Amino acid sequence: MLQASTAVFPGSFDPFTKGHEAMVHKAIQLYTKVIIAIGHNTTKQYLFSPEERLNQIQFLFAEYPNVEVKLYQGLTVNFCQENNAKVILRGLRDVKDFEYEKSIAWMNAELQTDIQTIFLLTEPNYLAINSVIVREIYKSGGNIEKFIPSKIFNLISKN
Ligand code: ADP
Repeated sequence: MLQASTAVFPGSFDPFTKGHEAMVHKAIQLYTKVIIAIGHNTTKQYLFSPEERLNQIQFLFAEYPNVEVKLYQGLTVNFCQENNAKVILRGLRDVKDFEYEKSIAWMNAELQTDIQTIFLLTEPNYLAINSVIVREIYKSGGNIEKFIPSKIFNLISKN
């Protein structure tokens, strides 16, 4: 029996890819609630606005009562505290991700000792999927259907 536990999966998700989706499916096997936390920084230029990303991801997980999607600003550890979450989930594709993620995880552990960062490995099929590249393909008029969940692709294509 799973103990009641909430994990926060933070990211920009601009756009939310099949790699991110697979991470959430793994996470709901491990935690009773998963909050996808869309970080937004007013100085950053995004392809999809925070509200668009919120709608896209909420639509994708509409049938999953244990998945919540929220916007946040500021420190991830503060967001975790406000939402009673003790776990930050991050995905690892390769050593480059690990090098970057471990520094953030250490800093977060210094800021808030009772919150742990847990890393999940990417599905091999999705190793090469990277939001930055997907965004560039989309901006240049390329087809991103292979890289993002079909429910989100259909939503974007309607607009
Ligand atoms: P950020 O801007 O915070 O790096 P991203 O939206 O790019 O956020 O990614 C959010 C999280 O998802 C990060 O932990 C990242 O490592 C992970 N991630 C990104 N792409 C993939 C993928 N293809 N498969 C699994 N995890 C991924």
